[in-house]
Formats: sequence, structure tokens, C-alpha cells
Amino acid sequence: MKCPFCIDKNKETSVLDSRPSENGSVIRRRRICIECKGRFTTHERIQFRELVVVKKDGDKVNFDRDKIAKSVELALRKRPVDTDTKEKLISRIVNDIEGMGENEISSNVVGEAVMKALYTIDKVAYVRFASVYRDFRETKDFEQFLDTIDKK
Ligand SMILES: [Zn+2]
Repeated sequence: MKCPFCIDKNKETSVLDSRPSENGSVIRRRRICIECKGRFTTHERIQFRELVVVKKDGDKVNFDRDKIAKSVELALRKRPVDTDTKEKLISRIVNDIEGMGENEISSNVVGEAVMKALYTIDKVAYVRFASVYRDFRETKDFEQFLDTIDKK
């Protein structure tokens, strides 16, 4: 942390002491500048990243775990997959997406991540999701898609 008083010199400061406040969600640090001996306080707070999904039409919505969960639930309806496996799958998708380290992510990438994850646990669910996601209009599209799966 640079000293706010030695602006043009940008001198480093050292921490005099650190203590948690607001039930431990904030760390308060007393700092001193090694150059001018100026003292100041900083607060360190947990920042949950706001991930934004950019839709095809350019609209932006906040990334929402519940939406992922709903898509997965729908795709896996009446499939022999237990709740625990489902929950882990949803967490894996969310971790994958958050782990990309982007602040903005296209809805395509989200869709592909869900498809990839479903593919690993249930092929029927995968095809169900893909058919909605890829917006199949004709049986022909669907057959072509099934062909691509067989080749994998
Ligand atoms: Zn200073």
C-alpha cells in the first residue's frame, strides 16, 4: 500500500497493527509511511465478484446459480440421478464458470459449460438440455446433433 501523503514519491508503508472488526468480516490495518511517518488506516473487506452474463441480444444479467440449478433440474427430470450428484454437478458448473476469472461471460459459454457437465453424468439429460439450448426446430437438426454425439 502506497502512502497517500507522499503522493508523487509513492513511498511504501508498513503495517503497525491489524485487527478484525464487524464480526471479522473486515480487517482494519493501521499503517505508517517509512518516509514521512504519516499514519493512516485501511479496511480490508471480502469482495464477492459480480459476474455478468451477456446474452445473445447484448442484454446483461447477473450470473445466477439458481438459473443454472433450474436448467439442470429440468434436464434431469425423472432421470436416475440423486440430489447429491445433482448438487455437486451444479457446484462444478458454477466453479468452472467463476474459475474462468472473467467479469463478463457470454451466455454461450454458460450453456456450453452446462452441456459439458450434463454429458458426463447423463446422456439423456444432455440431449434434452442441448435441444432446448440449441433451439432445434426440425427433427433433422436433432438427428444431426445425435450423430455428432455418437462420434464423440
Ligand atoms: Zn509518506
